[in-house]
Amino acid sequence: MKYLTRVFAVLLLSAVLHPVTAADLKVFACEPEWAALTRELAGDHADITTATTARQDPHHIQARPSLIAALRRADLAVCTGAGLEIGWLPMLQRQSGNTAVQNGKPGDFEAAMQVERLEVPESVDRAMGDIHPEGNPHVQMDPRRMATIATALTARLRQIDPVHAADYEARGADFDRRWQAALARWNDAAKPLRGVRVVVHHKGWAYLFDWLGLEEAGTLETKPGVPPSAGHLAELKAELAARPAKMVIYAAYQEDRAASWLSREAAIPAVKLPFTVGGTAGASDLFGLYDDTINRMLAALHESH
Ligand SMILES: [Zn+2]
Repeated sequence: MKYLTRVFAVLLLSAVLHPVTAADLKVFACEPEWAALTRELAGDHADITTATTARQDPHHIQARPSLIAALRRADLAVCTGAGLEIGWLPMLQRQSGNTAVQNGKPGDFEAAMQVERLEVPESVDRAMGDIHPEGNPHVQMDPRRMATIATALTARLRQIDPVHAADYEARGADFDRRWQAALARWNDAAKPLRGVRVVVHHKGWAYLFDWLGLEEAGTLETKPGVPPSAGHLAELKAELAARPAKMVIYAAYQEDRAASWLSREAAIPAVKLPFTVGGTAGASDLFGLYDDTINRMLAALHESH
């Protein structure tokens, strides 16, 4: 009897000490790269729902009831922020009724706001297209910024789930070790890409270009979020005749029609890049995202020579 009481007391105590039990930290990840990063940093402690796939345009998704339900259960939402999800996340936050994941709460983690952002506009004019006032939100394509975001996310996990703080600390340090080694490898492999002129579909690659020293030779979209027009494409083709580019790139979620047209007309390879984890077979995890991006661009560079 005495033994059972003790067992019960221990169970009760552990329930009190572990309000969040293993695999019980409910995480709502807006995009696959943040689900992948959370998996790296939280391991079995997190039960992750990913709101979008690599086949979906993260600027625009449908606020399905299943997503509202997932956000309602969440202890932590890990999203890009900086306005990327402005068309759907605020609505999910409101409908979820979950105070833990509202803006400014510890349960609301915005990855892009943890790093220095590019293309922050001096002023915002709707006529300029889908401009994000907080700057370009597509930070996931720079692994240096990803390292900073990982450190911030580790701190947030410790804050939200203090019982497993030591574990998050250890996992974060292990991730950083593996990440720095991979970064050195990527920096080395991508050297031939430095200074290469590349046409993009959408301004989603500013951080990749910043990291690798690529030069943007033009965009297929007329303005951010505005589909390519025949007139704009003809203009772009004329510009490329004067100052050639080596390739045109587009994200796995985008249509390849405009890129294929330019590829034919300007005789440069059109390259599909994963943009996020799962966008291509090679981008099966966070490390593969950069491996595959660099490999595909190097292959296109060889092809264009
Ligand atoms: Zn965008």
